[in-house]
Amino acid sequence: MSHPLLPRLHRHAWMDESIDAFREQVRRYVTNELAPQLDGWRRQGFIPREVWRPFGEMGFLLPELSEAYGGAGASLAYQMVVQDEFARAEMPANTAVHNLAAHYILDYGTEAQKRRWLPRMASGELLAGIALTEPGCGSDLKALRTRARLDGDHYVIDGAKTFITNGFSASLLVVAVRTGDAGSRGVSLVVLETQDLPGFRVGRRLEKLGQHASDTAELFFDGVRVPASHLLGEVPGNGFVQLMSQLPYERTLLCVPAAAVIERAVELTVEYTRERKAFGHTVFDFQNTRFKLAECATLAHVVRTFVNDCIQRLLDGTLDDEAAYMAKWWCTEQQGKVTDECVQLFGGYGYMAEYPIARMHADARVQRIYGGTTEIMKDLIARKLGA
Ligand SMILES: Cc1cc2nc3c(=O)[nH]c(=O)nc-3n(C[C@H](O)[C@H](O)[C@H](O)COP(=O)(O)OP(=O)(O)OC[C@H]3O[C@@H](n4cnc5c(N)ncnc54)[C@H](O)[C@@H]3O)c2cc1C
Repeated sequence: MSHPLLPRLHRHAWMDESIDAFREQVRRYVTNELAPQLDGWRRQGFIPREVWRPFGEMGFLLPELSEAYGGAGASLAYQMVVQDEFARAEMPANTAVHNLAAHYILDYGTEAQKRRWLPRMASGELLAGIALTEPGCGSDLKALRTRARLDGDHYVIDGAKTFITNGFSASLLVVAVRTGDAGSRGVSLVVLETQDLPGFRVGRRLEKLGQHASDTAELFFDGVRVPASHLLGEVPGNGFVQLMSQLPYERTLLCVPAAAVIERAVELTVEYTRERKAFGHTVFDFQNTRFKLAECATLAHVVRTFVNDCIQRLLDGTLDDEAAYMAKWWCTEQQGKVTDECVQLFGGYGYMAEYPIARMHADARVQRIYGGTTEIMKDLIARKLGA
């Protein structure tokens, strides 16, 4: 149950009773079926892909797809609720990435591509990843070097990707490749079914500061042949535009966990400091603690209000890129700030990995890096200001 001062379930125009009921179902499933396994998944460094099958069959993976593609024809709000409940339960970002891959196919795929992949993604039969980043480029995606050369009715792919979420466990990848000259016009997206695919290799599963249950891997492509019909869309060279067009949605999706984690961190810290004794008082009694928690609860409110507004505008089709950039950098920076303050109020216990607050702090760090760094978001906003 959330603290009455925290905004989590405050009503917002996009919420209704059917969304509440869906939230309750997702929460029950996450709490009973997934959360108890998280420690084991953290130790092994990945969530087995079979986990997503029953989750998909419950209709939780891609509820926003139409029934023709295996979904329930629900609004995007339902996906936001799934991500909210996941973050609150400390589940990592694997389904968010799967979801984004599905939206690339939904928005840019041909009818045949949608029918080939989306129903199996909705059911959890296929887990997807998105492979953009390379050892030599992340923020500057225009510089990517993984090349796809047309050979008859196939593309032949050579190159390497790194930091790929679900890279180890996915069996479907949306890969950014260079099909043309240097620069953004030469970039395309290609979909790969990776099971037993000759020339495709998963490299190291990378050790990370946080998000230990989520696999993040290196990928290698050595003469990988993929049917030319797996190019996303009808013609090559649209990859960069396709990537850019998804950004408002992608960034809103990353802000939802920020709001959820901030609220959970404050709840946990209020509980803990009210129990913990020092100098004959509870830690909560110290004015410093009260002021810090009051500041964090205020940030929780402002972040949630901002995120709810972005969701509403996303649903209305009025969310502009700049608002999404602002939300991405600001909400994730607040997530870092609040989890850091909360660790401090836990004292030494806040640094112990067995305490959720320590894990939430470590998990939060990457939010300011992936999906476009804070600096890139600010640069994009400033460009608009100067235009
Ligand atoms: C856990 C994790 C999961 C990830 N999952 C995926 C995934 O699923 N798929 C995928 O494709 N990628 C993924 N990434 C990669 C991620 O998107 C990149 O790390 C990110 O975009 C930054 O790129 P980079 O690491 O190359 O940093 P760089 O681009 O080298 O940036 C280094 C620093 O320079 C700054 N900088 C760069 N350009 C500018 C500029 N113009 N102005 C000011 N400062 C600038 C950056 O903000 C940063 O502080 C993941 C990364 C992590 C850590």
